Amino acid sequence: MRDIPGAWRRAAEGAGLRAPDGSTTPTIFAEMSALAARTGAINLGQGFPDEDGPAEVLDAAREAIGAGVNQYPPGRGIAELREAIAAHQQRFYGLHLDADRHVLVTAGATEALAATLLALVDGPDDEIVVFEPYYDSYAAVIALAGARLVPVPLRAPGFQPDLDELAAAVSDRTRAILVNDPHNPTGAVFDAATRETLVALAERHDAFLVTDEVYEHLVFAGPHVPLATLPGAWDRTISISSAGKTFSVTGWKIGWLTAPADLVDAVVAVKQYLTYVNGAPFQPAVAQGLRLPRTFFAEAADRLRRRRDLLGAGLRAAGFDVFEPAGSYFTVADAEPLGVRDAAAFCRELPELAGVVAIPLTAFATPAHRGDYASLLRFAACKRDDVLAEASARLATLDRISAG
Ligand code: PMP
Ligand code: GLN
Repeated sequence: MRDIPGAWRRAAEGAGLRAPDGSTTPTIFAEMSALAARTGAINLGQGFPDEDGPAEVLDAAREAIGAGVNQYPPGRGIAELREAIAAHQQRFYGLHLDADRHVLVTAGATEALAATLLALVDGPDDEIVVFEPYYDSYAAVIALAGARLVPVPLRAPGFQPDLDELAAAVSDRTRAILVNDPHNPTGAVFDAATRETLVALAERHDAFLVTDEVYEHLVFAGPHVPLATLPGAWDRTISISSAGKTFSVTGWKIGWLTAPADLVDAVVAVKQYLTYVNGAPFQPAVAQGLRLPRTFFAEAADRLRRRRDLLGAGLRAAGFDVFEPAGSYFTVADAEPLGVRDAAAFCRELPELAGVVAIPLTAFATPAHRGDYASLLRFAACKRDDVLAEASARLATLDRISAG
């Protein structure tokens, strides 16, 4: 294999994707979806729904294409979508935003995260504090930006941080604390004490708060509380979300961030040279989605709660220990009672053993900490009821395997 110099190495190494021979492996999501396609197994790995979202939203995109909305949109996103995002923040969270100064439309939450971290990191001494296990792009982008990732562990069963460990991780070197709530992969929703500590620590050390709230409408008990709504937080917070999960359009890649005007300007300076813009006809469609009545959002959370319960029951019946999530698409289960010590190897065998694909939690941890998550798996609940029922029936055969 050729030795190609470049920043790509930092991204691949940061995400733990470099093989010993120097080659780069695909992300765990790509690998596991390919495995599901190859084996015909039910894919409870990569988090994407197997049903379409609201018809109004899909129709609006078709109409926009028909109406010629097919050229570059404005750099910050079309005004209709920026206004819908501002109105959404007001309706659900009581935040008053100026759609022209406080809102930026991005190519998914992924680009918002990348542009934000690239914009904020100033040198190799900068640290980004992240809860571990963490979504895979965080480590790659932090490494690409040339900063250091400082992990704070979340442990089963509750996956809430230890506040002393959190305080010890944040220092004057901390450029930003990156907070994913509701949390992928654990499904944790952080409690009020954690939220308040995060804001206090950011203030004490003059750090930014960068939030990843892509599961904001998929919370099972009680409303989602954005960090930006806490006293003193707005000025130092960049809040990120996306349409993918809320409207079941993960392939559209329409995301956004909201923040004070100077922070938006700083992120725009980077974002305009990453994608410049994206998804013209999807932007008015997502605006339509954000204006849907509250019942739509409540029903989406109710449906997913029911599916979480279906999946949880199936996993328990199959012999897993299940850590019930409070939000997100995902449920973490421990395969230790089935005699599993290495979930990464087990996930690669699971299609053969039971016709189901899951993701090992080790994929969300820095290599040095993977041992802490060795027997844990993440299953996606964002699938049709009949698919979850069939997956449960298939997983039930595992119990017989371990018993025999
Ligand atoms: N953050 C988290 C926590 C996610 O689970 C995902 C995957 N959907 C993303 C960001 C990426 O979102 P998008 O597809 O909008 O880029
Ligand atoms: N967010 C999705 C998940 O956690 C995956 C997105 C991706 O494949 N990068 O499953």
